[in-house]
Amino acid sequence: MINGNSYKSLMPVFFLGHGNPMNAVYTNAFTRRLNEMGNSLKWKPDAILVVSAHWLTRGIYASTTAFPETIYDFSGFPEELYKVVYPAPGAPIQAEYTMELIPEIKADEEMGLDHGAWSMLVHMFPDADIPVFQLSIDFHQPMQYHFDLGKKLFPLRKKNILIIGSGNIVHNLQYAFPLDNPNKYPWASEFDEWVKDKIVKRDFESLINYQSGGEAAKMSVPTTDHYIPLLYCLGLVQENEDINFTYEEIITSLSMRCFRIG
Ligand code: ZN
Repeated sequence: MINGNSYKSLMPVFFLGHGNPMNAVYTNAFTRRLNEMGNSLKWKPDAILVVSAHWLTRGIYASTTAFPETIYDFSGFPEELYKVVYPAPGAPIQAEYTMELIPEIKADEEMGLDHGAWSMLVHMFPDADIPVFQLSIDFHQPMQYHFDLGKKLFPLRKKNILIIGSGNIVHNLQYAFPLDNPNKYPWASEFDEWVKDKIVKRDFESLINYQSGGEAAKMSVPTTDHYIPLLYCLGLVQENEDINFTYEEIITSLSMRCFRIG
């Protein structure tokens, strides 16, 4: 059983621009802010649900794994990154609840934590004592579907579950390297600001139809995998709820923008 209706306020929602997996081992302004975001919660979540750009499927799955493994779903990085382990327990009870809520979601009993989840959680919740589960992204569905599915996840916020969308508003790997290139692509800044403006105005319709951002949108979202987690978060915004931008940075062709809802 999980508690319900015993919390006076709703659990916030976080959107995170995760960027380079090496952030898991770095300490910088971005990772410090992640830590502050984790500490900013007034009470500890019973579980964390991550919708990550790195779990794309046909159909939707929730991970029901009791002890999720840290998955190194990348190659060619320094050895130290492969030594990072995030040993948080899984959250099968909350995953089952999510499947009851949205029957089209199926169980994945083996999925571990992808780096869109653990490279952020190591900074946000370094004690790794909050159970974590993930929801996959059905990559064959239109943008509206993801926004609507985000809406359907709303009851989780009343069950003391922290929902995190982990992607990047601007994510074009063709232009990203080297990451220490101080030049930022103008279209990356332009689209990032365009998205920020639409969020401030609560114009989510334009963000579902992100192509209306023109050429900058085309360059910033060459594939939708890292953009889609944003739509889950926006679907969870309630009327008059605060949205606070907690981090802003453009690194070459990546936006590290993060925000908190509620
Ligand atoms: Zn990524």
